[in-house]
Amino acid sequence: MPSRSDLGPKPLLGYTASILARVAERRGDAAFLAACAADGSCGTFAIGGELVVMRRTANGLDPLFRSEEARALAPVAETVFLGLAGEAGRFGIALDPEATKGLKQRPDLVVTDLRSIAVQGLVGPEHLAPLAEAKALLAWHARHRFCANCGKPTNMSQAGWKRECAACKVEHFPRTDPVVIMLAIDGDRCLLGRAGRFVSNMWSCLAGFVEPGESIEEAARRETLEEAGITCGRVKYFASQPWPFPMSLMIGCHAQATSSDITVDREELEDARWFTREEVASMFNGEHPEKISIPPPIAIAHHIIRAWVEEGDGVFA
Ligand SMILES: [Zn+2]
Repeated sequence: MPSRSDLGPKPLLGYTASILARVAERRGDAAFLAACAADGSCGTFAIGGELVVMRRTANGLDPLFRSEEARALAPVAETVFLGLAGEAGRFGIALDPEATKGLKQRPDLVVTDLRSIAVQGLVGPEHLAPLAEAKALLAWHARHRFCANCGKPTNMSQAGWKRECAACKVEHFPRTDPVVIMLAIDGDRCLLGRAGRFVSNMWSCLAGFVEPGESIEEAARRETLEEAGITCGRVKYFASQPWPFPMSLMIGCHAQATSSDITVDREELEDARWFTREEVASMFNGEHPEKISIPPPIAIAHHIIRAWVEEGDGVFA
């Protein structure tokens, strides 16, 4: 293949490029938040566990509700302030997950998971990043109702950006779990793997959680070695993506492989193989002879793989 090739216009990476200003300095300002919520331009995302609730409108699906409409949908656990879209406040509300499943019966609503919403383009792209913010933050609250230090119940403060323990006074902040996702490259070949949970015939980058005491580069090398038996040298950061399932940050990298014999960890992967650049390019065009596909453009893996197909070793420049 030529050193550079072009797969056409670059699609947007899902859940990134948020239109919201988070205005963290206003999170403790009760008067501001009340005025914001009362304003006619304010909108609330309604989320129950993995499910997002949307309204059917003449112009398609709308994930924004008036505050009182959102509260009337199902029993409410928490409400968090996400930020401002221009002057308009954006909030997220956690609905009871079981009651949210029941909303699937309502003809005026569509209730589905955030992956499907992104992959199928069910809402305007400007809603995806705020939905990811709401879902990840509300998932953290759902799992941190008790103090990790003393076990007593905690209370939400700062409009959802902190929990405080009245018993031991420890403050808890929303967490994000870093995950490395990397494409190991050996000259004109790259390493793709297949996990059992993937849709049939889809192959992707290897990935895994960064462990305590580990750098991004070390995690990328360790995961590639553990899952496929391949050692890597240089690791080059590419881009990152919030991944609210439930609350990860995907850190995309390219890694220079320094060995070539694959040993697959069958606990983690169904299979792992080397693919040439030409072969991977055919996956983008839907022309791979085994009908192998790669993840859709909402996922960072698509962009990591695409950059290598387009730039070859240029990804390490
Ligand atoms: Zn405590």
